[in-house]
Amino acid sequence: MSERLVVSGLTVRYARRPAIVDVSITVEPGEIVTVIGPNGAGKTTLLRAISGLVPVHSGTISFGRARLDKMPSHRIVDIGVIHVPEGRHLFPDMTTLENLDMGAYSGRGRGLRRKTLDVVYSHFPRLRERTRQAAGSLSGGEQQMLATGRALMGRPEVLLLDEPATGLAPLMVKEVAAAIADLVSAVGCAVLLVEQNVSLALRLASRGYVLELGQVVASGPSTALAVDSRVREAYLAGR
Ligand code: ATP
Repeated sequence: MSERLVVSGLTVRYARRPAIVDVSITVEPGEIVTVIGPNGAGKTTLLRAISGLVPVHSGTISFGRARLDKMPSHRIVDIGVIHVPEGRHLFPDMTTLENLDMGAYSGRGRGLRRKTLDVVYSHFPRLRERTRQAAGSLSGGEQQMLATGRALMGRPEVLLLDEPATGLAPLMVKEVAAAIADLVSAVGCAVLLVEQNVSLALRLASRGYVLELGQVVASGPSTALAVDSRVREAYLAGR
C-alpha cells in the first residue's frame, strides 16, 4: 500500500532569503500533480526540499508516517521518493543499460531489476535500441527517457519530475510526455511534476498548484486551472 506525500507549511531559505514560504501540498498514491509558476517561483526548491537536498527552515514533509524533513537524501530514495532533476544528471560515459542499472542499485529496485527493465524498455523502445550506447551520445528526448527510466528502476512510490520537457523539440515533447504517463501508470507510482510547459503539465496532471514568489496562489483540478482567467493570462496566452 502506498502512502500520501504531505508538505505542510514549508518554508525554505537560501542564506536568509526565503525561496518558498508556508507552502502546503499533497500528493495521493498514484496521482499526477503539477506545480506551475514563473521562473524563480520556487518550484525546483520545493522538489529539492522534498528529496532532502536543501534544508527545511520550518514546516514538515511527510510520506505516510515517515518524516522526510528529518531524513538524509539516500534514505528518502530508499523509501521510494525519487527525484529526476532538471538537466537529467546522467552518467554520460556510461551506457544506457549501465545508467538504468544505477537506478536499480537501491534496496527497493534491486530484486525487481529484470522485471522493471522490461517495463522501461517496452515503454521506451528507443532505449532498448540504444542499450549499449553512451548516454552522452543520446538525443535530448532520449536522455529524458533515460533519466526517467533510471528513476523508475528504483521502484518509486513518488516520482519528482523537474522540467522533463525543457529543451525538447515539440514532437519529442509529445512522445516523451505520452510515454512517461503510460510508464508511471504501469509502475503505479505518483508523480509531482514541475513543468514550464503549462498546457502540457495540466494535460498530464489531474491536479495542480500555482506557485508565485514562493507561495501557493491557486490550486485545484487541472481542468479548473486550465480555464482560470489568471492562469490563462499568465501561462497559457497564445496556446
Ligand atoms: P526555474 O524555473 O527558473 O528553475 P523555480 O521556480 O524552479 O525557477 P527556484 O530555482 O526554486 O525556482 O528558485 C527560487 C528562488 O530561490 C529564486 O529566487 C532563486 O534565485 C533562488 N535560489 C535558487 N537556488 C538558489 C541557491 N542555491 N542559492 C541561493 N538562491 C537560490
